[in-house]
Amino acid sequence: MMHIDDDTLLKFVLETLDEPDNGTVRDHLSLCPICSGKRLELQREVRSLASVDFQVDAVVPPRLPQRSRRSMMIVRFAAVLAVGFVAGYIMSEVSAPQTTTTVGQQLRPAPVAAPITRPAPCSAIDI
Ligand SMILES: [Zn+2]
Repeated sequence: MMHIDDDTLLKFVLETLDEPDNGTVRDHLSLCPICSGKRLELQREVRSLASVDFQVDAVVPPRLPQRSRRSMMIVRFAAVLAVGFVAGYIMSEVSAPQTTTTVGQQLRPAPVAAPITRPAPCSAIDI
């Protein structure tokens, strides 16, 4: 007979086992004294753990002195001002109307290259 592994038995004890595994374990426990013994032992351990009163000592950071808190407020205020200034500058740059500048231009024709003149052939000239 296959016995129930410890992990599955613990899930059964903690009632976190889904069906049909839950029914399979219940059926096995009704037939197997070994697993029933382990189940009782696990239930005892779970009950003893539940009765433990955990005390957690949380470390609370010391409060800042009053003067330091005041300077932090000044720093925060300055930071808000700086952010507002930068945001305003960026918005003014983005929303500023585009100014156009008229530049006088005059079109001039490109200088025409001197026409290429071929020298008359020497043999054609009679003096
Ligand atoms: Zn068993």
